[in-house]
Amino acid sequence: MLNETKICKKCGIEKPIDQFRLRVEHRIKNGDCYYRVGTCKECEKKAAKEYHNQIKDTEGFKEKKRQYAMNRYWRRRDELILKQREARKTKRHKENRKAYIQKNKDKIYLQEVVTKKRYHEKNRDALTDVYIINLFLSNGKPHPTPLQIEIKRSEILIQRIKKITKNHKIGKTKKCSKCGQVKDLSEFYLRKGKSGNILRSSICKYCNSKNCANYREKQKNNGKKNIERTFV
Ligand SMILES: [Zn+2]
Ligand SMILES: [Zn+2]
Repeated sequence: MLNETKICKKCGIEKPIDQFRLRVEHRIKNGDCYYRVGTCKECEKKAAKEYHNQIKDTEGFKEKKRQYAMNRYWRRRDELILKQREARKTKRHKENRKAYIQKNKDKIYLQEVVTKKRYHEKNRDALTDVYIINLFLSNGKPHPTPLQIEIKRSEILIQRIKKITKNHKIGKTKKCSKCGQVKDLSEFYLRKGKSGNILRSSICKYCNSKNCANYREKQKNNGKKNIERTFV
Protein backbone atom coordinates (compact mmCIF):
# COMPACT_ATOMS: atom_id res chain seq x y z
CA MET A 1 0.00 0.00 0.00
CA LEU A 2 2.83 2.39 0.91
CA ASN A 3 4.79 1.95 -2.26
CA GLU A 4 1.76 1.84 -4.52
CA THR A 5 2.06 3.99 -7.64
CA LYS A 6 -0.16 5.05 -10.50
CA ILE A 7 0.42 6.45 -13.99
CA CYS A 8 -1.22 9.80 -14.71
CA LYS A 9 -3.55 9.83 -17.69
CA LYS A 10 -2.46 13.28 -18.74
CA CYS A 11 1.27 13.66 -18.21
CA GLY A 12 2.05 9.92 -18.31
CA ILE A 13 4.40 10.08 -15.31
CA GLU A 14 4.30 7.36 -12.67
CA LYS A 15 3.63 8.93 -9.28
CA PRO A 16 2.93 7.75 -5.71
CA ILE A 17 -0.72 7.03 -5.03
CA ASP A 18 -1.19 9.97 -2.64
CA GLN A 19 -0.58 12.34 -5.55
CA PHE A 20 -4.03 11.34 -6.88
CA ARG A 21 -7.25 12.69 -5.37
CA LEU A 22 -9.54 10.28 -3.54
CA ARG A 23 -13.14 10.30 -4.71
CA VAL A 24 -16.28 8.89 -3.17
CA GLU A 25 -19.20 7.58 -5.14
CA HIS A 26 -22.45 6.89 -3.30
CA ARG A 27 -24.05 3.73 -4.59
CA ILE A 28 -27.39 2.53 -3.36
CA LYS A 29 -26.70 -1.18 -3.76
CA ASN A 30 -23.08 -1.61 -2.74
CA GLY A 31 -22.62 1.33 -0.38
CA ASP A 32 -19.92 4.00 -0.78
CA CYS A 33 -17.18 3.28 -3.25
CA TYR A 34 -13.74 4.95 -2.92
CA TYR A 35 -11.35 5.28 -5.82
CA ARG A 36 -8.46 7.42 -7.06
CA VAL A 37 -9.01 9.78 -10.02
CA GLY A 38 -7.08 9.26 -13.26
CA THR A 39 -5.06 12.53 -13.40
CA CYS A 40 -2.54 13.62 -10.80
CA LYS A 41 -3.05 16.62 -8.49
CA GLU A 42 -0.51 18.72 -10.36
CA CYS A 43 -2.23 18.19 -13.74
CA GLU A 44 -5.63 18.94 -12.16
CA LYS A 45 -4.27 22.18 -10.73
CA LYS A 46 -2.87 23.18 -14.11
CA ALA A 47 -6.16 22.42 -15.87
CA ALA A 48 -8.13 24.39 -13.28
CA LYS A 49 -5.80 27.38 -13.71
CA GLU A 50 -6.19 27.25 -17.47
CA TYR A 51 -9.96 27.05 -17.19
CA HIS A 52 -9.96 29.99 -14.78
CA ASN A 53 -7.87 32.09 -17.18
CA GLN A 54 -10.32 31.28 -19.94
CA ILE A 55 -13.46 32.36 -18.09
CA LYS A 56 -12.15 35.03 -15.70
CA ASP A 57 -12.99 37.94 -18.01
CA THR A 58 -16.49 36.78 -18.93
CA GLU A 59 -19.44 38.70 -17.53
CA GLY A 60 -21.08 35.56 -16.14
CA PHE A 61 -18.06 34.66 -14.03
CA LYS A 62 -17.73 38.21 -12.69
CA GLU A 63 -21.37 38.22 -11.70
CA LYS A 64 -20.96 34.87 -9.96
CA LYS A 65 -17.93 36.18 -8.06
CA ARG A 66 -19.82 39.30 -7.02
CA GLN A 67 -22.76 37.22 -5.87
CA TYR A 68 -20.46 34.96 -3.85
CA ALA A 69 -18.77 37.90 -2.13
CA MET A 70 -22.16 39.45 -1.32
CA ASN A 71 -23.49 36.24 0.14
CA ARG A 72 -20.36 35.79 2.20
CA TYR A 73 -20.60 39.35 3.48
CA TRP A 74 -24.26 39.05 4.49
CA ARG A 75 -23.65 35.72 6.20
CA ARG A 76 -20.81 37.19 8.31
CA ARG A 77 -21.99 40.80 8.50
CA ASP A 78 -22.50 41.08 12.26
CA GLU A 79 -19.24 39.30 12.92
CA LEU A 80 -17.32 41.59 10.53
CA ILE A 81 -18.83 44.77 11.97
CA LEU A 82 -17.94 43.69 15.49
CA LYS A 83 -14.39 42.94 14.38
CA GLN A 84 -14.03 46.35 12.74
CA ARG A 85 -15.43 48.09 15.79
CA GLU A 86 -12.97 46.30 18.04
CA ALA A 87 -10.09 47.13 15.71
CA ARG A 88 -10.98 50.82 15.75
CA LYS A 89 -10.56 50.90 19.53
CA THR A 90 -6.97 49.70 19.49
CA LYS A 91 -4.02 52.04 19.89
CA ARG A 92 -2.29 50.65 16.83
CA HIS A 93 -5.25 51.44 14.60
CA LYS A 94 -5.37 55.01 15.84
CA GLU A 95 -1.67 55.47 15.23
CA ASN A 96 -1.97 54.02 11.73
CA ARG A 97 -4.88 56.31 10.98
CA LYS A 98 -2.94 59.35 12.22
CA ALA A 99 0.06 58.42 10.10
CA TYR A 100 -2.14 57.90 7.04
CA ILE A 101 -3.74 61.32 7.49
CA GLN A 102 -0.34 62.98 7.91
CA LYS A 103 0.95 61.30 4.78
CA ASN A 104 -2.09 61.99 2.58
CA LYS A 105 -3.04 65.44 3.80
CA ASP A 106 -3.34 66.94 0.34
CA LYS A 107 -5.34 64.04 -1.02
CA ILE A 108 -7.83 64.20 1.84
CA TYR A 109 -8.10 67.97 1.53
CA LEU A 110 -8.86 67.65 -2.18
CA GLN A 111 -11.47 64.98 -1.53
CA GLU A 112 -13.16 67.17 1.07
CA VAL A 113 -13.27 70.13 -1.27
CA VAL A 114 -14.66 68.06 -4.12
CA THR A 115 -17.38 66.44 -2.04
CA LYS A 116 -18.38 69.76 -0.49
CA LYS A 117 -18.54 71.40 -3.91
CA ARG A 118 -20.60 68.55 -5.31
CA TYR A 119 -23.02 68.69 -2.39
CA HIS A 120 -23.37 72.44 -2.75
CA GLU A 121 -24.05 72.23 -6.48
CA LYS A 122 -26.61 69.52 -5.95
CA ASN A 123 -28.45 71.29 -3.14
CA ARG A 124 -28.06 74.93 -4.14
CA ASP A 125 -31.78 75.47 -4.68
CA ALA A 126 -33.00 72.68 -2.43
CA LEU A 127 -35.44 73.45 0.36
CA THR A 128 -35.08 70.52 2.69
CA ASP A 129 -37.55 69.71 5.46
CA VAL A 130 -34.84 70.33 8.05
CA TYR A 131 -34.20 73.82 6.65
CA ILE A 132 -37.88 74.76 6.89
CA ILE A 133 -38.34 73.26 10.35
CA ASN A 134 -35.34 75.29 11.55
CA LEU A 135 -36.93 78.42 10.06
CA PHE A 136 -40.07 77.79 12.12
CA LEU A 137 -38.19 77.00 15.33
CA SER A 138 -35.79 79.96 15.06
CA ASN A 139 -38.79 82.30 14.80
CA GLY A 140 -40.16 80.93 18.07
CA LYS A 141 -42.96 79.00 16.40
CA PRO A 142 -43.92 75.41 17.31
CA HIS A 143 -42.80 72.43 15.27
CA PRO A 144 -44.66 72.58 11.92
CA THR A 145 -46.92 69.88 10.52
CA PRO A 146 -46.12 68.32 7.10
CA LEU A 147 -48.81 70.48 5.48
CA GLN A 148 -47.32 73.65 6.97
CA ILE A 149 -43.90 72.59 5.66
CA GLU A 150 -45.29 72.19 2.14
CA ILE A 151 -47.02 75.61 2.27
CA LYS A 152 -43.87 77.34 3.56
CA ARG A 153 -41.81 75.68 0.82
CA SER A 154 -44.15 76.96 -1.88
CA GLU A 155 -44.12 80.46 -0.37
CA ILE A 156 -40.33 80.59 -0.36
CA LEU A 157 -40.19 79.35 -3.96
CA ILE A 158 -42.68 82.02 -5.09
CA GLN A 159 -40.64 84.70 -3.28
CA ARG A 160 -37.51 83.50 -5.03
CA ILE A 161 -39.17 83.60 -8.45
CA LYS A 162 -40.48 87.11 -7.76
CA LYS A 163 -36.99 88.26 -6.75
CA ILE A 164 -35.45 86.77 -9.88
CA THR A 165 -38.02 88.27 -12.26
CA LYS A 166 -37.73 91.67 -10.53
CA ASN A 167 -33.98 91.85 -10.88
CA HIS A 168 -33.69 90.12 -14.20
CA LYS A 169 -34.97 91.82 -17.30
CA ILE A 170 -35.42 89.15 -19.93
CA GLY A 171 -33.66 89.79 -23.21
CA LYS A 172 -31.18 92.36 -21.86
CA THR A 173 -27.51 91.68 -22.32
CA LYS A 174 -24.23 93.06 -20.99
CA LYS A 175 -20.60 92.93 -22.02
CA CYS A 176 -18.16 91.37 -19.58
CA SER A 177 -15.23 93.67 -18.87
CA LYS A 178 -12.82 90.79 -18.48
CA CYS A 179 -13.53 88.26 -21.22
CA GLY A 180 -15.32 90.74 -23.48
CA GLN A 181 -18.19 88.40 -24.29
CA VAL A 182 -21.74 89.71 -24.55
CA LYS A 183 -23.88 87.65 -22.19
CA ASP A 184 -27.39 87.53 -20.75
CA LEU A 185 -27.95 89.67 -17.63
CA SER A 186 -28.51 86.54 -15.51
CA GLU A 187 -24.85 85.67 -16.14
CA PHE A 188 -23.78 88.61 -13.92
CA TYR A 189 -23.98 88.60 -10.14
CA LEU A 190 -25.88 91.25 -8.21
CA ARG A 191 -23.86 93.36 -5.79
CA LYS A 192 -24.42 96.25 -3.44
CA GLY A 193 -23.25 99.69 -4.52
CA LYS A 194 -21.70 102.34 -2.28
CA SER A 195 -25.00 104.10 -1.60
CA GLY A 196 -26.79 100.83 -0.91
CA ASN A 197 -28.37 100.42 -4.35
CA ILE A 198 -28.18 97.07 -6.11
CA LEU A 199 -25.95 96.85 -9.19
CA ARG A 200 -24.85 94.21 -11.65
CA SER A 201 -21.25 93.09 -11.36
CA SER A 202 -19.02 94.19 -14.25
CA ILE A 203 -17.54 90.72 -14.78
CA CYS A 204 -19.53 87.62 -15.62
CA LYS A 205 -20.11 84.68 -13.27
CA TYR A 206 -17.58 82.54 -15.08
CA CYS A 207 -14.80 85.16 -14.84
CA ASN A 208 -15.75 85.77 -11.22
CA SER A 209 -15.36 82.11 -10.29
CA LYS A 210 -12.00 82.08 -12.09
CA ASN A 211 -10.88 85.12 -10.10
CA CYS A 212 -11.91 83.45 -6.85
CA ALA A 213 -10.01 80.29 -7.75
CA ASN A 214 -6.89 82.32 -8.57
CA TYR A 215 -7.15 84.18 -5.28
CA ARG A 216 -7.49 80.95 -3.32
CA GLU A 217 -4.49 79.46 -5.11
CA LYS A 218 -2.42 82.55 -4.33
CA GLN A 219 -3.34 82.38 -0.65
CA LYS A 220 -2.41 78.74 -0.54
CA ASN A 221 0.97 79.49 -2.11
CA ASN A 222 1.56 82.29 0.38
CA GLY A 223 1.17 79.77 3.16
CA LYS A 224 -2.03 81.24 4.52
CA LYS A 225 -4.73 78.76 5.30
CA ASN A 226 -8.15 80.07 4.52
CA ILE A 227 -9.79 76.88 5.70
CA GLU A 228 -8.99 75.47 9.11
CA ARG A 229 -8.38 71.79 8.85
CA THR A 230 -9.15 69.67 11.87
CA PHE A 231 -9.01 65.92 12.01
CA VAL A 232 -10.70 63.92 14.67
ZN1 LIG B 1 -0.16 14.35 -14.34
ZN1 LIG C 1 -16.37 87.18 -18.52
